[in-house]
Parts: sequence; C-alpha cells; structure tokens
Amino acid sequence: MIIDCHGHYTTAPQALWDWRKLQVAGQKPGTLKISDDQLRESLEGAQLKLQRERGSDLTFFSPRAGSMEHHVGDAATSQAWSRECNDLIHRVCSLYPENFAAVCQLPQSPGVAPANCIPELERCVNELGFIGCNLNPDPSGGWWKEPPLTDKWWYPLYEKMVELDVPAMVHVSSSCNPAFHFTGAHYINADTTAFMQFLTSDLFKDFPTLRFVIPHGGGAVPYHWGRYRGIAQDLKRPPLAELLLRNVFFDTCVYHKPGIELLLKVIPAENILFASEMVGAVRGIDPETGQYFDDTKRYIDAIDWVSAADRKKIFEDNVKRVYPRFGGMVLS
Ligand SMILES: [Zn+2]
Repeated sequence: MIIDCHGHYTTAPQALWDWRKLQVAGQKPGTLKISDDQLRESLEGAQLKLQRERGSDLTFFSPRAGSMEHHVGDAATSQAWSRECNDLIHRVCSLYPENFAAVCQLPQSPGVAPANCIPELERCVNELGFIGCNLNPDPSGGWWKEPPLTDKWWYPLYEKMVELDVPAMVHVSSSCNPAFHFTGAHYINADTTAFMQFLTSDLFKDFPTLRFVIPHGGGAVPYHWGRYRGIAQDLKRPPLAELLLRNVFFDTCVYHKPGIELLLKVIPAENILFASEMVGAVRGIDPETGQYFDDTKRYIDAIDWVSAADRKKIFEDNVKRVYPRFGGMVLS
C-alpha cells in the first residue's frame, strides 16, 4: 500500500472561500452550501486522478494550509473557520474512505494558549475519526511571536495529543511578513526552526510518545545534518538518534531526485514518511524530466539502492506507526 501522508484540500469548491471572505469581512456567512457532487467534482480531476496516475492508494487529507490563516481575526474566528474546514474534510473522507484519511486544522490564534484547541481536536478525533492534526508553530503568520514549540505553553495540547495518540505535522500557514515568501521560505524556515527547537529541549523526555512530522523533507535539516549533530555535541546533548528520532519524522515533499536521494541517505528509513503534498505548492512540470515536480513517488522508485524492506517502511509501515489511528481503522 502506498500512503501519502501530506495532502491538502487546495481544490475545495469556491463556496468555501466565499464563506471565508464573508467571515473575514465581519458579515454572517451563514450555512456553507456545498453538495456531494460538488465535492466529487473538486477531487475527481485533481487529487483522485493524480493518485491513479502516480500509483498512490491513499492520502492523509487536511484543509488548505495557506488558508488556515490563524493570524486573521481572533480565536472565535479561527474556531468557526477551522470547524467549517474540518467538517468539509470529514465529508470528503466519508465520500472516499478508500482514498483519504482525515487530518485536522487547529483553531490556533496568536497569543491564545494552545489549550484552546483541545475541544476541536477532541471533536475531530473522537467524533469524526480524524487521525492527526496540523500544528502551526507560528500563528502570527511570519512574525514568530509565540514561545518555541518546546515551551510549556504548548504542553496541555501535547498532553491531549498523547492521550488521543495522534501526531502533529508541524505546518505553518501563509506569511504576512513580506520578507518570507510563504511556500518558498516561510514553510522551509518553519520546518528547520521546529527541528532546532526540539534539539535544544527535553520535550521528548517529558513526552516520550509525542510525535511530530516535519514536512517538506525536513526543511534544511537533512542537508545540514552534520551541523545539527555537531551543535548537539557542542551543547552536550545526546546523539540525535537518541534525542529525537523516536519522536520526529520527515516527509518526502522534496521536488527533485537528488534531494530525495540525500534525504534517504542521511535520515534513517524508519523516520521517513512518503508524501507529495499534491495538489499543492508546486504544480508544474519539470522541463528537465518532463514529469511533475511534485510526483515524489517517481524519485523514490528511481533510487535503486533502497531495499525493498526500506521502501515498504517509507511507503506504508512508518506512516501506520506514526498515525496509529489510521492503522486501527484499517484493522477494524
Ligand atoms: Zn502542506
């Protein structure tokens, strides 16, 4: 089975974005009206078609990351918006249970304690069968005003994640800081920043079973693995494998073969989860290969030194271990 652990509903029907516009304008958006046929239409020619063409079986599906916009409005705005987005994801996963499993957006808001997200996380997991969440380390949208992910500020949410046995993908939203392009800089900065926060803390001593997926291939981390090993050593921290690798995982959203090859050489196969983030940040065809940049399965398939056992770990086994609620659904 080929499981893609990172996909967003970027192709949601226009009615969702219209609802959001009204909400942001301070008007009452009313009930979101989208038919099942409209949902099917939004997926058949996009994510479902690409799953078939590229040979993946199922995608972990969450609301469009750039539209989480935790910086917009207040906690109540974020709560109502997250609920609409999560409900829509639930509908998609109910229509296509063979193709999608649900991952939720959290109703974060700048300066508001993450504990405020617990009721929505519980609703999604306990009532709607969601298997994970996306956690934004910077709800300010590029200004980095929150304490680091390792601060006790976040602990109540982590306690709930551990209790529910759901991991979080560390995933920022759009950038309000003109210095940071959102998918090109802000996303990759955040991935790298989160890893460095984990490296300098004892978070995983406090939460030995807490799990994070760092997307976009781990930002700059695999490329600079020697730097991080060296910093950990200088800081008298344990080796990275002992310090982090029971809790931190990397996806394969790296859009060229040499990058994937580096990821697979540097990071143990146990810590890599297959993902493509389609349909997402990069939608074009690479003129050098004639293939879509985000067809990441093709790069992994083309690396001949990866053993069959490691391949199975990356495409299937690791994801079931990191997202045990998905495994549970399969077994039930
Ligand atoms: Zn994403």
